[in-house]
Amino acid sequence: MAQYDVIIIGGGPGGYNAAIRAGQLGLKVACVDKGVNGGATLGGTCLNVGCMPSKALLHASEMYDAAANHFGELGIDVKPSLNLTQMMAQKATSVGQLTKGVEFLFKKNKVDWLKGSGRIAGPGKVEVAGPDGKSETHEAKNIVIATGSEPSPLAGVEVDQVRIVDSTGALSLPKVPKSLVVIGAGIIGLELGSVWRRLGAQVTVVEFLDRITPGMDTETAKTFQRALTKQGMVFKLSSKVTGAKIGKSDVSLTVEPVAGGAAETLTADVVLLAVGRRPYTDGLGLESVGITPDKRGIIETDHWKTSAPGVWAIGDVTHGPMLAHKGEEEAVACIETIAGKAGHVNYGVIPSVVYTSPEVAWVGQTEEELKAAGRAYKAGKFPFTANSRAKINHETEGFVKVLADAATDEVLGVHMIGPQVSEMIGEYCVAMEFKAASEDVARTCHPHPTRSEALRQAAMGVEGWTMQA
Ligand code: FAD
Repeated sequence: MAQYDVIIIGGGPGGYNAAIRAGQLGLKVACVDKGVNGGATLGGTCLNVGCMPSKALLHASEMYDAAANHFGELGIDVKPSLNLTQMMAQKATSVGQLTKGVEFLFKKNKVDWLKGSGRIAGPGKVEVAGPDGKSETHEAKNIVIATGSEPSPLAGVEVDQVRIVDSTGALSLPKVPKSLVVIGAGIIGLELGSVWRRLGAQVTVVEFLDRITPGMDTETAKTFQRALTKQGMVFKLSSKVTGAKIGKSDVSLTVEPVAGGAAETLTADVVLLAVGRRPYTDGLGLESVGITPDKRGIIETDHWKTSAPGVWAIGDVTHGPMLAHKGEEEAVACIETIAGKAGHVNYGVIPSVVYTSPEVAWVGQTEEELKAAGRAYKAGKFPFTANSRAKINHETEGFVKVLADAATDEVLGVHMIGPQVSEMIGEYCVAMEFKAASEDVARTCHPHPTRSEALRQAAMGVEGWTMQA
């Protein structure tokens, strides 16, 4: 029986970052991971079946779409043909390099990777069932649960990963479906729907709510929906899927208006079920330390401490947005707290991104949240049509909107839709961490010509002196 300062269960962005930080701080640390989707690689959902493979396909399909539909206007005449096998192979190669990278970082930081399924076997004990069927029990002063999440099911819609797929299946379709129905207009559904639309599928998105991407600033979400509709995506909002029948070559979905009324049947070659994710704690032995997750399966924490002494939880398995960088933040804070330092996460400054085209990125509060909180604010907005770099690149869709406190000018929220905004939101994360006023950004020199000038011009707009629109 090995003895550790910390054993982390789960090797995704929460778990692997916790393990690396623990190693850096000189703690004796192990990370138990059973791999995802039958594989035996580190990196969790994010690296294996989440962030990274989805971004690989988003990038490749965007290039294909550009070559097919947009190169002509730049004076480049080409007729691309799709090699889906190679597109999937390059995705697998990149993912493989990334998961190996985590393995390397484990070695570098003296983290023991315990391969297999981990179960808490009472206070301070973790039993690991290895791939060879043998079990070992290890002792730890601290146990960090970082077991992540899994796709949420929907009654009446059985995933078979052939005709009805979840996000994992949608990352590896063997051919482009003629028609794809996506159930759920959240980030994952719209990203993967975009991939297959660009590659040739007719995509219909069915959403229960009367809007897409809940949580996104409403004005931004409306602009986003208009952009996706223009690209050919069809939306059926305020609609619920109540059943699915898998046929020989297609799926029939029963769809009803949420407000009541006649049901209709939608048929599609493939259906992607993307109605959200739920915490994953199967077989974890939580009962052995008296932890009971809430109704949604979430493990309750206070500063990453669970109700059981010496047991901590981070990432998708606990409260907050299910995002890799949120898990990473919590990993560092949790381990630093364990090591006697002052761990801290600023939950008000966790950015969100949709990696479609245009991209959407935001941080802080939406206009609706500020109104609901009764907070007086001023807004500055700048369209990419007035940004010179966006103009010469023919990428003028979208805007940047900065929301700042009416009295103090502190930046409270930033919402961007447009080209490469995922790469620019970090500027406002830094500004908000430093409690910057919008004027601080408005008076900061930005390089010309760049899209980042739109960030500055929007900040100028808060005080009403946007100069370039
Ligand atoms: P996970 O990454 O889920 O890792 C948990 C690990 O624990 C897994 O390896 C699992 O096998 C292992 N495990 C579970 N139970 C046990 C056990 N008992 N014993 C041993 N091992 C166990 N987030 C972003 O920030 N940006 C994105 O662009 C993004 N894109 C996404 C795209 C898709 C298609 C999906 C599905 C998700 C995406 N996410 C994205 C979300 C992101 O993947 C998750 O928020 C993140 O992976 C959560 O990290 P985690 O460490 O909490 O858990």
